[in-house]
Amino acid sequence: MSSPTRVLIIEDEPPLRMALEDALKAEGFSVSSAADGESGLRRALEDGPDVILLDLMLPKRDGFSVLKALREDRLSSAVIILSARGEELDRIQGFEYGADDYVVKPFSTDELLLRIRAVLRRSQGRTPGVDPSARQRIGDAEVDFESYTLLRGGKRHGLSRRELELLQFFLEHEGEVLERARILRQVWGLEAYPSTRTVDTHVLKLRKKLEPEPDQPRHILTIHGVGYRFER
Ligand code: CA
Repeated sequence: MSSPTRVLIIEDEPPLRMALEDALKAEGFSVSSAADGESGLRRALEDGPDVILLDLMLPKRDGFSVLKALREDRLSSAVIILSARGEELDRIQGFEYGADDYVVKPFSTDELLLRIRAVLRRSQGRTPGVDPSARQRIGDAEVDFESYTLLRGGKRHGLSRRELELLQFFLEHEGEVLERARILRQVWGLEAYPSTRTVDTHVLKLRKKLEPEPDQPRHILTIHGVGYRFER
């Protein structure tokens, strides 16, 4: 590999932050860190790391707010939430805001390394069939994968990383009936993901941007009791 994978750790507990730094450096990653949400966000936007390890309970700005700001800024770094809280609601909210994975403290270094490698594989190894550097036309909308935007009727909509990935998955499987569980597995990539409802929430958001009449969709069609079918 030419350049090392860059990881940013945003974690306010010094012992954990330092332990993570050491462990990741020992694995050959290029590591930087921040001890609060404000400076973490700044660093992330300046450096654009490959992976961000993000604590939720942080001084100055909490992890969810950092994550939201990152995605609004269209930063495409993979984000793994590190949290003491394992509640389902936190997990769901984390994924809604565009987190790629979630680990609950205390976790082992081995587990974290596995998760990091998995999110890297997913962010590098996608796209059979759809060139993500190209613009894609869907009905009267145009999707620009590089700038995370969708243009329709002269209006520009920002897309979250997850919305973009979902759209890409639909494009790659045009005309197929796609079960919710399959979408979840292939787009979110998580075995233990709590609920297929997340797919529905993301579809609703996408329809509002993509469809001329979101209540009568032409592109992302509901197949009752099963999932969705995408038509360009
Ligand atoms: Ca904390």
